[in-house]
Amino acid sequence: MRLIIASNNKNKIDEIRQILGERFSEILSLREAGVELDTVEDADSFLGNARKKALEAAALLPGDAVLADDSGLCVDALGGAPGVYSARYAGEGHDDAMNRKKLLEELSGVPAEERGAYFACAMVLAQGNKSIAEAVGRVHGSILFEERGENGFGYDSLFYYPPFEQSFAEIDSEKKNAVSHRSNALMMLLAALNTK
Ligand code: IMP
Repeated sequence: MRLIIASNNKNKIDEIRQILGERFSEILSLREAGVELDTVEDADSFLGNARKKALEAAALLPGDAVLADDSGLCVDALGGAPGVYSARYAGEGHDDAMNRKKLLEELSGVPAEERGAYFACAMVLAQGNKSIAEAVGRVHGSILFEERGENGFGYDSLFYYPPFEQSFAEIDSEKKNAVSHRSNALMMLLAALNTK
């Protein structure tokens, strides 16, 4: 069965491909499947946005399974921000580096023991006009005082993962995929599918 990922974010698609391995005959991005779609992510939860993306894309791809994710970083000291606004924390049109700068500014003066945070990822698999499996994965860590590491994307260089004593940008993608919010969500989603 073909799986279409309702995203054009190369980093995410690469991670999902790596995690899912051989489980699907073909894994394509929306664009590779010939669909241009820009879902408005205006839900107030990761799951709400992922569901919206999956259902809009599945309606345009009858017969295919469509996987959508929505993810972000939730920081305890900021009441869960940036949360669903993670991609545009520094404002529309700003890039990952600006988002990281803003996060460090918002946390200036916050001591190490109050810098707890988690990444969350909601995954929804849809076919036709319905959602057939949903899951939310999380990974807990804390926010560093400065960037560490060159790998990954988004907030990886600021996210410290205590079991590894490293940031997510200091480890390779294989190590990250073993514990990440995205792989946790995907594993739960696959488990839910297998029990159907
Ligand atoms: P989305 O594309 O709406 O899911 O936005 C997710 C945003 O959250 C990204 O732009 C990143 O800033 C952040 N994010 C999500 N997952 C990760 C991750 O694994 N590492 C670093 N940042 C992430």
